[in-house]
Amino acid sequence: MIYLDNNATTAIDPRVIDVMTEVLAAGPANASSLHAIGRAAHGRIEESLEVIARALQTDFSLPGGPRLIFTSGGTESNNLALAGLGDPSAPLVTSRIEHPSILAMAQAQAAAGREVRYLDVDQNGAALIDQLDDLISTGDQKAALVSLMSANNETGVIQDVAAAATICRGHGVPLHVDATQSIGKLPFSLSQTGADAVTFTAHKFHGPSGVGALWLSGGVKLNPILHGGEQQLESRPGTEPIALIVAMAEALRISTESGDSDVLQMESQVKLLRDRLESTLVDRFGDLVIHGRQASRLPGTTCVSFPGSDRQSMLMALDMAGIACSSGSACSSGSSPPSHVLQAMGVSDSLVESALRFGVSKFSTPTDIDESIERISNVYNKLRS
Ligand code: PLP
Repeated sequence: MIYLDNNATTAIDPRVIDVMTEVLAAGPANASSLHAIGRAAHGRIEESLEVIARALQTDFSLPGGPRLIFTSGGTESNNLALAGLGDPSAPLVTSRIEHPSILAMAQAQAAAGREVRYLDVDQNGAALIDQLDDLISTGDQKAALVSLMSANNETGVIQDVAAAATICRGHGVPLHVDATQSIGKLPFSLSQTGADAVTFTAHKFHGPSGVGALWLSGGVKLNPILHGGEQQLESRPGTEPIALIVAMAEALRISTESGDSDVLQMESQVKLLRDRLESTLVDRFGDLVIHGRQASRLPGTTCVSFPGSDRQSMLMALDMAGIACSSGSACSSGSSPPSHVLQAMGVSDSLVESALRFGVSKFSTPTDIDESIERISNVYNKLRS
């Protein structure tokens, strides 16, 4: 099986498995316990925070400065941000191409009476940040929160969150950024995003699933959605999963290691492989459509429509041919709804119905890609009507 579904999740780096196993094997670890074993567990969290701070250019040592809330992953961090930042009864601004963990939460809040305002996107898949100014201040009530993704999980299109941050700052409205797809894939500086809160999750950068975080800028107040013990200053009660936290820090350290050169090299290798996949397929099949190709994108992601085919049949045939890819963002059941992202971009129904997403990672090899091109071509030749 060739794994090309790295936007859904990634293989754990063996070095992360080693660190995680070591922590799990070391015995009980509850960071709230006052005895020596508990204090050692607390120490592992502190060390992990230092690693994460270095990797993402932030500082958790300042009183009243930035904080990190550990969560179970991107979904929880996004839910926590929407419910816990600002007044949850005042309007929320987000875009039409967000991940379901934002859109479904926004819809739930709308059902409970919250006004939700949506940024449109252009045909390349970039949210129209020009609309933000109006959306924040339109209507009876100013928006209490803006939430935007840094890069789209289906097309890989990178969003202009820096421009959004400037507009939000001008209005004094907090900005939450869902950086789930960028952190660990592109250099990312938390101190320079201009965001008030940032979501990330370990399984997108070769760490384990079940752990993520919500970074909060200095002075940002967060209302909890869970109630229980006093862990994490009551912002997110529950016994901290020490092995998962240490593993997430290690995965981040590896993915941002030595600052620039290694990461840039890996990024360009991933991009080369993605570009090779795209350009060879387009040379063979002139009518393929690559969504967002004109925009700046994540290095490993491609969203391709195969005209004359149907995405579910393609997905299943590719699975049988030994290629793992995806047909949308909520694709685990095998019958995902049509992509809301492509629909928001104004893509025709037939192209939406024939779109698949492929994601290359640092573990993908040139042989994998060449073999994938052959298998995809064979399957498409068989299935196109
Ligand atoms: N946000 C984006 C952009 C994602 O791509 C994902 C996962 O696919 C999530 C949030 C949810 O992350 P998790 O699977 O850790 O809950």
